[in-house]
Amino acid sequence: MSLTSTPNVLASAISEARDSTVHELDARLIRYSLDAVTDMIIWLDRDGRYVFCNKAATEFLGYTSEELRQLRVCDVDPNFDETRWHAHWKELEEQGSVRLETVNTTKNGQNLPIEVNATFVCFDGKQYNCSIVRNITDRKRVETELIQLNHRVYQLSITDALTGIANRRHFDDILAREFKSATLLHAPLSLVLLDIDHFKAFNDHYGHLSGDHCLRRVAAAIVAAVRQPNDLTARYGGEEFVCILPGMQLEGAILIGERIRQAIMNLAIPHAASPQQVVTASLGVVSTTPSMQSATDMLAEVDRLLYQAKREGRNRLSAQPTTYFPK
Ligand code: GH3
Ligand code: MG
Ligand code: MG
Repeated sequence: MSLTSTPNVLASAISEARDSTVHELDARLIRYSLDAVTDMIIWLDRDGRYVFCNKAATEFLGYTSEELRQLRVCDVDPNFDETRWHAHWKELEEQGSVRLETVNTTKNGQNLPIEVNATFVCFDGKQYNCSIVRNITDRKRVETELIQLNHRVYQLSITDALTGIANRRHFDDILAREFKSATLLHAPLSLVLLDIDHFKAFNDHYGHLSGDHCLRRVAAAIVAAVRQPNDLTARYGGEEFVCILPGMQLEGAILIGERIRQAIMNLAIPHAASPQQVVTASLGVVSTTPSMQSATDMLAEVDRLLYQAKREGRNRLSAQPTTYFPK
């Protein structure tokens, strides 16, 4: 090439040289990036065999590149067998890319959660799954902690702090739900409301701490007396407790109410300021009737019956005079 006679050729040669330098730099940067990134880059062939893994992948799995090239996805991922791999490949072919969460077993036997972003690629006339894989152990741990925390917060929101049984909020929700379903299904539903007798005098005589202890023991006695899994015992107010008895007709509810009254007496908690000399309770028992339009109607009726029991002398149970048998 003559320098003087062909300036355009020279310019193009310089430009080509610059391009090749740029391409070479690009290639070096790409190679460097493959090993520098913390995400794993994994190429798998149609059989699920490892074809390429970057440094992050070999470090995470604990295998060398050579060892990995002897393995297939099914050897490393306990969630993948032949069937799942074929289904995954088909999905990848159809959709072009697939995102999934799974688990990889490292060489030292640890099962670690991963997030996979797989892309279907054709290279040199062959098809591959090119995946960006991320170790999500920390994220999963935080997610599990959040789920546990949520559960704990929910449990606290429905639990009475003193007695550990359901609180008024939970009772209101469950009664509204049970009333609705009893009405829809024409099924019976009963309520037992009870109030400890002369409890102010108990506190005055023995102190509030003893009063708290007494409330805990009464709550436990009621829970032990109400045995069906769908029944709910809740603290209704200060020294008032309530039981929701789904599917229970009045006769059965009266028996349970009586069992509760006896159980509280049998605790034999001394109460020097009560005529009975032990802690007792008065109870109202009610079952749904056609005239009840809402859970509030039911509550009003059981409250009326409870105060009737108080008026009639306490340590007793008052129930509706008639029984309603739904059709
Ligand atoms: P009655 O037989 O008519 O029900 O009389 P009573 O004294 O039980 O009823 P009253 O409504 O006059 O008093 C209720 C008492 O319950 C007063 C209150 O200090 C007590 N109480 C309410 N909640 C708690 C609590 O969480 N701990 C304690 N120790 N006492 C409580
Ligand atoms: Mg009361
Ligand atoms: Mg009372």
